[in-house]
Amino acid sequence: MIKKTLITPFNTKYNTPPFSNIENEDYLPTFKEAIALARKEIDLITTNEAAATFENTIVALDFSGEQLDRISSIFFNLNSAETNEEIQKIAQEISPLLSEFSNDITLNEDLFKRVKAIYDIKESLDLTAEQKTLLDKRYKSFSRNGANLSEDKKNQLREIDKKLSQLKLKFGENVLAETNKFEMLITDENDLSGLPEGTKEAAKQMAESKEKEGWLFTLDYPSYIPFVTYSNNRELRKKITLAAGSKSFKGDALDNQENVLEITNLRHKRANLLGYTTHAEFVLEERMAETPEKVQAFLNELLLKAKPAAEKEFKNLESFAKDLDNIDELEKWDGSYYAEKLKQKLFSLDDELLKPYFKLENVIDGAFKITNILFDLNFEEIHDIDKYHEDVLTYKVSNASGDLVSVFYADFFPRAGKRNGAWMTSYKPQYIKDSINSRPHISIVCNFTKPTKSKPSLLTFNEVTTLFHEFGHALHGMLANTTYPSLSGTNVYWDFVELPSQILENWCYEKEALELFATHYETGEVIPMDLIEKIKKSATFHEGMQTLRQISFGLLDMSWHGQDPSKIKNVKGHEKEAFEHVTLYPETNETCMSTSFSHIFQGGYSSGYYSYKWAEVLDADAFEYFKETGIFNKEIAQKFKDNVLSKGGTENPMTLYKRFRGQEPKPEALLRRAGLIEN
Ligand SMILES: [Zn+2]
Repeated sequence: MIKKTLITPFNTKYNTPPFSNIENEDYLPTFKEAIALARKEIDLITTNEAAATFENTIVALDFSGEQLDRISSIFFNLNSAETNEEIQKIAQEISPLLSEFSNDITLNEDLFKRVKAIYDIKESLDLTAEQKTLLDKRYKSFSRNGANLSEDKKNQLREIDKKLSQLKLKFGENVLAETNKFEMLITDENDLSGLPEGTKEAAKQMAESKEKEGWLFTLDYPSYIPFVTYSNNRELRKKITLAAGSKSFKGDALDNQENVLEITNLRHKRANLLGYTTHAEFVLEERMAETPEKVQAFLNELLLKAKPAAEKEFKNLESFAKDLDNIDELEKWDGSYYAEKLKQKLFSLDDELLKPYFKLENVIDGAFKITNILFDLNFEEIHDIDKYHEDVLTYKVSNASGDLVSVFYADFFPRAGKRNGAWMTSYKPQYIKDSINSRPHISIVCNFTKPTKSKPSLLTFNEVTTLFHEFGHALHGMLANTTYPSLSGTNVYWDFVELPSQILENWCYEKEALELFATHYETGEVIPMDLIEKIKKSATFHEGMQTLRQISFGLLDMSWHGQDPSKIKNVKGHEKEAFEHVTLYPETNETCMSTSFSHIFQGGYSSGYYSYKWAEVLDADAFEYFKETGIFNKEIAQKFKDNVLSKGGTENPMTLYKRFRGQEPKPEALLRRAGLIEN
C-alpha cells in the first residue's frame, strides 16, 4: 500500500525528494507507516534488555524516526510553499496523528526511566560537550513536561495545560473577532485626503465586497497602517487608533481581561509545579539570556541609553507638528502621521530610484560572492535534481576542495499556493552517522517582485535585505557540522537563531559589498554612495522611539511573567505601572495593550519579547567585530563559521558566542549603529 516514492533513502541524486513522483494520495498512508516505524524504533529502545547507555538510548532516540522526519519536512514545506485545498485537508488529518505520536513519546515512562538513568550518572560518563547538550536537552524534554512529578501532580499539570490551550485559543478568537468587527466607512471623498492611491483603491474594493458605497477601512494591518500613517483627518485617525488600541477591552463578551489574569496565573502555577519560581524562569532556562534577572537588566540598560534619544526625537516631532499644523499636544494617533511627514522631508527616498540597482540575479550573485569570499563556498546551479515548481532554482554548494556542502533550493516569486513572507527551511538535516557526514538540503522561499515582459525582477531595498536575511539562516543550515541531527543547523535557542540571518543583512549597507553586485541593470553603473548613506540614515530614523517601544513591550511581558501574578487584580492598572517610565504619549483610558497582546498570550512569545532586541544586540556586536578589521576579513569569518555557523545547538549559545567574539555581547555596537550614542 505504501508507495516506494516516499521511502528513504530516496533513490535520487543526493538523496533529494522525488517531488514530481509524489502523489497527494501517497501522503496519508506513508505518514501512518512512518509513524508505526518510528514507534517500533522507540519500542526497541525501551524493551532493550541491556542497561541504558548513552548510545543505546540517547543516540538511538535522536536517530529514530528518520523516515517520518523526511516526509514531514517535504509535506509541511510544500504546505507553505506550494499548497492547495487537498494538501491542506491532508494536513488536518496528519497533524493530530503527529501530535499524538509526540505526546506518546513525552509521556512514555519506560523511555523516561532509561533517559533518567543516564542523566543521573552523566558526570561519570566522560561525554563530549555536544553529547552533554544532547542528554540535557532530551532529559528536559521530559522533565519540563512533568515526567518527574507524582501521579497527582501530573494530573494537575495536564489539567492546567488543557485549560491553558483553551484560554489561549479563546484569547486569540476574541482579538480576531474584535479586529473583524470594526469597520470605518467613509462616504465623503474629502475624508480620504492624504491617502495613497493604492490604499484608496483597496478601501473601495473592500466596500464593494461588502456591498457598501464608499471606502471601507478595517483594523487589518494593510488597511489600518496606511490610514494612520497618511490620513490628514485627525479625528478619523483618532477613531481608528482608539479602536485598534481597545481591542478586547470593552467589558463585553469579547473582553480579554479575565483571560489575561487566568493565563498568567495558570502559567505561574504550572511553573511552580515543575519547581520554578516563575513562568519566566521556566521559559528562560532554555534561552541564551538564561534568567529573568538578566533579561530585566538587559532591558533596563537599553532603556537607560535609548530614553534620552527617544525623548529628544519626541520633542522634535512635537515641534514639527506644531509648526506644520499647530498641534499643541502630540497624541498616539499623531505619531505615525507626523513621523512619516518628517521622514519624507528629511530623506525623500523613493524605492523606484533604488530598484534598478538591485536586479534579482545580481543580488543572488552578490550573496554568493560574499559567502565565497568569507567562507570559501561555491554555488553552482544544477538541473539534474527534481523540483516542486518550475520557478525553483537548485544549486550544488561545495567547499574549496570541491566536497559537497549542501543542496540549496531557492524559490523567489509569489504564486497562488504560497504563503506570504519569506522563510528558510530544510528538506534534510545534517548529521554524522557511521563516520559519514551526511549533508543537508536547505531551502529559502520568498515573495519578491516578479519580472515582466519588458523588465527583469528589480528588488526594493527591503527585499534585498530580506534575501540576505534568509540567506543567513540558510548558511546556518548549510554549514552545519554536528553529529546529532536534533542539534544541527538552526536547532538553537530561540534568542540565538536570528544572529546568522541578521548579521548578513549588514553587508547590504557596505560600499565594498555593494560594489560586488549593486549595479544598474541597464547601464552597469555601481549604486551611488550618497543613496546608500540615505538608506542607512532613514533605516535608523526615530530609532530611539522605536527602541523605547520595543523595550516597553518587553517590560510588559516580563511584568506579567516574571513575578507571582496572583496579586494583580486590575489589568489596566498593572499595565500603567509597567509602562510608567517608557511612555511618551499622553495616557488614554479606553486603550489597553495586554488584552490584545497576542504575541505573549496566544503565540509563543511569553517571556520572549525581549529577544527581538536581544538578537539586534548580537548581530550589531558581531558585525562590529568584522568591521574592526574589514568586512571581508577571512580570519574573523573562519571564527564565525567554526564557533557559530557550524556548531548549531551543540553548546550553550553564550559559550559559542564568547568563543567567537572573545567576550560577551555588549549593546554599545547596536546603540552606535542606531545613532543613539556617539562612540
Ligand atoms: Zn529570521
